[in-house]
Amino acid sequence: MGYDLIIVGAGPSGIFTAYELNRINPEKKILLIEQGKPMEKRRCPKDRTKECINCRPFCDITTGFSGAGAFSDGKLSLSPEVGGDLPELIGFEYARELIEYTDKIYIEFGADLRVEGVEDDQEIKEIRRKAIEAGLKLVDCPIRHLGTERAQYIYGEIEKYLIDRGIEIRFNTKAVDIIVEDGKVAGVVLTDARKRSAVEESIHCDTVVVSAGRKGADWLKNLCVKHNISHKAGTVDIGVRVEVRNEVMERVNNVLYESKLIGYPLPFRDKVRTFCQNPGGFVSQENYDNNLAVVNGHSYKNRKTNNTNLAILSSHNFSYPFNEPIKYGTKVAELMNMLGDGKILVQRYGDILDGKRTWQKELSRSNVVPTLPDAVAGDLTSAMPYRAMTNILNFIEALNTVVPGFAGTETLLYGPEVKFYSNKVEISKEFETSVKGLYSLGDASGWTRGLMMASLMGVRMGQILAGSIGKA
Ligand SMILES: Cc1cc2nc3c(=O)[nH]c(=O)nc-3n(C[C@H](O)[C@H](O)[C@H](O)COP(=O)(O)OP(=O)(O)OC[C@H]3O[C@@H](n4cnc5c(N)ncnc54)[C@H](O)[C@@H]3O)c2cc1C
Repeated sequence: MGYDLIIVGAGPSGIFTAYELNRINPEKKILLIEQGKPMEKRRCPKDRTKECINCRPFCDITTGFSGAGAFSDGKLSLSPEVGGDLPELIGFEYARELIEYTDKIYIEFGADLRVEGVEDDQEIKEIRRKAIEAGLKLVDCPIRHLGTERAQYIYGEIEKYLIDRGIEIRFNTKAVDIIVEDGKVAGVVLTDARKRSAVEESIHCDTVVVSAGRKGADWLKNLCVKHNISHKAGTVDIGVRVEVRNEVMERVNNVLYESKLIGYPLPFRDKVRTFCQNPGGFVSQENYDNNLAVVNGHSYKNRKTNNTNLAILSSHNFSYPFNEPIKYGTKVAELMNMLGDGKILVQRYGDILDGKRTWQKELSRSNVVPTLPDAVAGDLTSAMPYRAMTNILNFIEALNTVVPGFAGTETLLYGPEVKFYSNKVEISKEFETSVKGLYSLGDASGWTRGLMMASLMGVRMGQILAGSIGKA
């Protein structure tokens, strides 16, 4: 076919690579490979079935055009301090410029013009004062909130735009391997993602971008080992999704929309942070291919609940003799899934302090009605490692100073919330791996962990490739 570029994974990082390269160099032939479905065919059947039915071959929440972006809350974090380590590689000021540029693309495709968390300076100062009192750092981060329904519309428009501009997208197609010859990439091996023993097809190309997301992080790690691509173990984030009534979070929700708070609680002093806050939102479940059920959260722009949810994540590093963070996070999640009979576990904060499990009937008496109805009441503490649990409980106590009522007895903790972006691929400033012509982007690369950072990494990739493809 003579492609100039093959991109594996149509998440934000992959689609913005295609967008930007095509904008600068429309004559370049781009093939985008995606194991899931087009945007318009992605559905989560849970609205109908009321509980997760573990869709096969993939969960539509994380797979398909726009990747994990489609069913996300669509919060674009407009600060280089949030969303991953990429600014350390390309520089904070440059990352800021790219955020501005990428944000404009989102606006062109229909994003809301309103930016949250910038208006009420006096109130922000007061929240910061409380955070300092509690030993926490409040990170400044303006947010453009797309909302799940708007995010799907915007990504749908981008899909149409790319197809109209001649970019070939192969859906339901999985990359099973990359071809490496003499230290250079030479193509990809593909198969039909819907069939178990489908025939494999090799496509040759000397420029390949792997942007496989968290979903593809494990696959990418195996590729690194097989093809000797330099990488290192990173951090694994283990935590819980916390849900409280909107009344408790009202001030922070109104002033900041999302409070990005970081602490290093005693006795371990590990980094613990809030992540992905959803005012009036829903707690959700995502399923990974290895049958893991993990918790997440999102919110619609117009459809609101009485609750706010956010994640509290504790970062864990390893060294000798064990240094496999993905394996560690998987084991913790598996144990929790086992106790929940394959479902998400939920426990009240007060029950944890009282040393007892939570029962379903106790949940139904609470002010806080779970927005994930098929979560199973139980005991998180039987599965959560002591260190992570202690970090989370001490952080919640500190957060109670900033948000009085956060550490209430009825506050719900759901688990497992585990972030599998721990394998970090070693890349140059041009995002090239140790294999020539092979580039690694987005959450799978370990350099990003959010929509805006993944998108801008894609934009930058498009610009770099526009200057380099065919010129070697
Ligand atoms: C429920 C939920 C809510 C979220 N909310 C927010 C939010 O509000 N704000 C925020 O900043 N971030 C949020 N995130 C995180 C955000 O969605 C991700 O950081 C972002 O989508 C990462 O982009 P990416 O391009 O790296 O990968 P992804 O979006 O994960 O896309 C990767 C794509 O690659 C495909 N793929 C993987 N392996 C292969 C293969 N071998 N062959 C072919 N295709 C493959 C996958 O199917 C997927 O479509 C949320 C995530 C979830 C799940």
